[in-house]
Amino acid sequence: MLQRLKQWLGLGERQPRIAEETWREVEATLPFLGFLEEADRLRLRAMATEFLAVKQFHGAQGLQLTDRMLLAIALQACLPVLNLGLQAYSGWVGIVVYPGDFVIPRKEMDADGVVHEYDDEVLGEAWEGGPVLLSWFEDEAPEGVNVVIHEFAHKLDMENGGVDGLPRLRPGMSAQAWAEAFELAYEQFCAQVDAGEETLLDPYGAEHPGEFFAVATETFFEAPALLQEAFPEVYRQLARYYRLDPAAGEGRWAGLQQR
Ligand SMILES: [Zn+2]
Repeated sequence: MLQRLKQWLGLGERQPRIAEETWREVEATLPFLGFLEEADRLRLRAMATEFLAVKQFHGAQGLQLTDRMLLAIALQACLPVLNLGLQAYSGWVGIVVYPGDFVIPRKEMDADGVVHEYDDEVLGEAWEGGPVLLSWFEDEAPEGVNVVIHEFAHKLDMENGGVDGLPRLRPGMSAQAWAEAFELAYEQFCAQVDAGEETLLDPYGAEHPGEFFAVATETFFEAPALLQEAFPEVYRQLARYYRLDPAAGEGRWAGLQQR
């Protein structure tokens, strides 16, 4: 697999051999990339190519990883770090891809010291200092969910240790402003979920501040204008953190397609 991938990437030669047409086909399956200017799209491709060269992919449960799957995962994983750099994902190499959701056996001790064992059905998981586990849905990805962006947001959250919804902020950002924006939004969001209201973000975000950061990041990239409307301060903090403003460029894709 690795050998084939390396041949395919043309590593060792100066120019990777991914055809323009292949990039376009894969990008067409990821319409939320449409906010990027052409120059940024090319930078994202270059970063995705490097990402594929430095990470090791494994298909689980017999899943055959195709070139298009690898490109789609790499583009989505690199989008959040387009202006932060790939070093944000350093210290680990493995990416395991499952055919659909999968089960992780858990063992937890409760307050009385009783150990509970159970199977947790998940779409993905990110291990601190370890691999990222992803599910791949060929046709029917669950709506409004972006497993790749979600798990890589956890990786960014872990950059400064733990999954707490507070990643390593960029120079000039205020931890206090971040905390105020996120705490207020999280409180409102949990109240909406508790009341059984329809929510813009995946209700799973009410599980924990770390999950709220991950689902807010999914929406920041997938439906930026909606996030900006629902939680403007969270949008502002994420735009400063990712150094991207997806809402400003939303709709650019349609323009590109028409050219
Ligand atoms: Zn999560």
